[in-house]
Amino acid sequence: MNLYSGYINHLIDELAALPGIGNKSAQRLAFYIIGMSPERVKSLSDSIADAKAHVHYCKCCQNLTDAEVCPICQDEKRDKSTIMVVENPRDLAAYERTGKYSGLYHVLHGAISPMLGIGPGDIRLKELMERLRDDTVKEVIIATNSSLEGETTAMYISKLIKPVGIRVTRIASGVPVGGDLEYIDEVTLLRALDGRTEL
Ligand code: ZN
Repeated sequence: MNLYSGYINHLIDELAALPGIGNKSAQRLAFYIIGMSPERVKSLSDSIADAKAHVHYCKCCQNLTDAEVCPICQDEKRDKSTIMVVENPRDLAAYERTGKYSGLYHVLHGAISPMLGIGPGDIRLKELMERLRDDTVKEVIIATNSSLEGETTAMYISKLIKPVGIRVTRIASGVPVGGDLEYIDEVTLLRALDGRTEL
């Protein structure tokens, strides 16, 4: 039996398609949105459309930003000799929350996965290698996840960078296997960073 109108069902379907939102949550959100004032609904839908229209990858580190170069890359106080390589912007945010890492980042937007047909050309590796061309960078810290894909990516990157003569390190494996970096607490993240080893 179809309880609701087509419009409500459409909204519930769209919300339920988002990550982490089940059918029940989608229903709850849909009813909440319908109860909001027209102004707030417009503000919400505009914020989605505006973010989509204006947010792109930073020219330098590939993090999401609405400027040509993101605030981290622009920050004069950051240590430009160190680049931490992460899989996605959420992992970068997790390290930023610790407030203890002062180097730069590079966001790959994925990890190498032969099973899913994702090769080195499908993630932002070329852009990383271009950044290593000038000799400001002294160390690349590989902070990809400890999943099979993350480890494969780490090995691949280390093989690529080593001949360039730059120090390559890997965060310690205190991080649970397959664990997304964003769900790991700050103490564990810092321990993983401090305990990094040469590759
Ligand atoms: Zn940047």
